[in-house]
Amino acid sequence: MARRRQVYEGKAKVLFKGPEPGTLVQYFKDDATAFNNKKRGTITGKGVLNNRISEYLMMRLTEVGVPTHFMRRLNMREQLVKEVEIIPVEVVVRNFVAGSLAKRLGLAEGTPLPRSIIEYYYKSDELDDPMISEEHITAFNWAAPQELDEIVQLSLRINDFLSGLFYGIGIRLIDFKIEFGRLYENDQMRIVLADEISPDSCRLWDVKTNEKLDKDRFRRDMDRIPEAYQEVARRLGIMPEGGPSDFKGPRLVQ
Ligand code: C5P
Repeated sequence: MARRRQVYEGKAKVLFKGPEPGTLVQYFKDDATAFNNKKRGTITGKGVLNNRISEYLMMRLTEVGVPTHFMRRLNMREQLVKEVEIIPVEVVVRNFVAGSLAKRLGLAEGTPLPRSIIEYYYKSDELDDPMISEEHITAFNWAAPQELDEIVQLSLRINDFLSGLFYGIGIRLIDFKIEFGRLYENDQMRIVLADEISPDSCRLWDVKTNEKLDKDRFRRDMDRIPEAYQEVARRLGIMPEGGPSDFKGPRLVQ
């Protein structure tokens, strides 16, 4: 088979040209980084689990009418997605105080927010993803005002749906980061959810114990990091009890 052409390499994923025009193959690595690359490591099996978890969540979101770039999972570490023009803005939705919000405003982690808060960060490694406002986004034409309205509406719907889905399996969705892209189809443009949704990009706390089941375990030098990702997959009902070694290997998904 001819080598696929790599189009982008990120910290946790690689994108290759897909089999058909307008498609990409998204490959999930085990590499983990934090604090804008200052901390690096690998989390064994993370790529396999994030591929599955993101597939599952994107499929559930599609079912409730949220447009996404996801097409289908190809194998253990790869999924086929639609090629989109990524909007260079990271959208963070918060339900409880944690992470940079706790630090910036001196608030206690875990405090419930009176309502969900949306924040925006400009996607730029050189600048350390600085926080920005809606004004910056529209003034610099990163997204048009109508596109931003669509992004806000979609983000709140995604938050409501995922908060309920996770709560049903004993997990509190503290906050998460998502990205959007422009999908061009038959002279039409639509804003769709892109990238991934996984324990790399969400804060997920056990409802009863507040145990962290996400990348904060890596960021904060905690133990049982792969186990946290496995636990999320297990609760979602997408991982065999015995762990990732129980995976039967690549399976073609129709
Ligand atoms: O660090 P901070 O509190 O701003 O992160 C908010 C949420 O966004 C967390 O769930 C974190 O995992 C996610 N995030 C991310 N990628 C970044 C920054 C934050 O997935 N570059």
